[in-house]
Amino acid sequence: MSNMTANRQQALNAAIDRDCPICHCEMVLPTAVPACQHKFCFMCLKGVNMNHLGGCPICRGPIDDNIFRRPTQQLDIKMPVPDSPTPSTSSSTDREVKQEVDEDVKPDVDALNASMNNPPPILMYWLYHGRRQGWWRFDPRIEKDIEEAYIARMPVTEVVICGQPYVIDFSNMTQYPKNNRTHSRDVKRVDAHEFDASNVKGLAGVFKLTR
Ligand SMILES: [Zn+2]
Ligand SMILES: [Zn+2]
Repeated sequence: MSNMTANRQQALNAAIDRDCPICHCEMVLPTAVPACQHKFCFMCLKGVNMNHLGGCPICRGPIDDNIFRRPTQQLDIKMPVPDSPTPSTSSSTDREVKQEVDEDVKPDVDALNASMNNPPPILMYWLYHGRRQGWWRFDPRIEKDIEEAYIARMPVTEVVICGQPYVIDFSNMTQYPKNNRTHSRDVKRVDAHEFDASNVKGLAGVFKLTR
């Protein structure tokens, strides 16, 4: 193994608990490939699998299709939007360097960390209707993009779900694959109260574990 490969592997290992090696963000619905235990966001891994990109993105090992059949996780159905693209591997070093430079200023690192660990609560949620019945919540990062487009009064917006482009049509409150308008499903924008009344089944295709 060359040095570079070893370093790369080390970096991957360091970030593996938090960041997804595909989207480089904090993992949403962390999902391990059964054969090798490499972890990714559920949606990122599903995208790789759906688009036949050749096995596990880290080791090229096989991905067992069964993990996508009826995925279930213990999850916070109202989870906040996870960290946006600030790779944890570099941000800690950046902060140390900055602290040295700004020694006289004494930044309130505790307050900064607290605000980063406590993202603001979500006021409005976006749900889509499932293939059979019931409502599902969008991946919180996609939900955030949809909400921003909605607030900006755009008539439609485009999001990428599992590597596939989808159109959200705000005038009809529907979503459909960009290349297949006939497969449209209802979407709705709800507050926390309506969310609770909607009996949401899960998040981005992953069933909420009920006991
Ligand atoms: Zn990801
Ligand atoms: Zn792997």
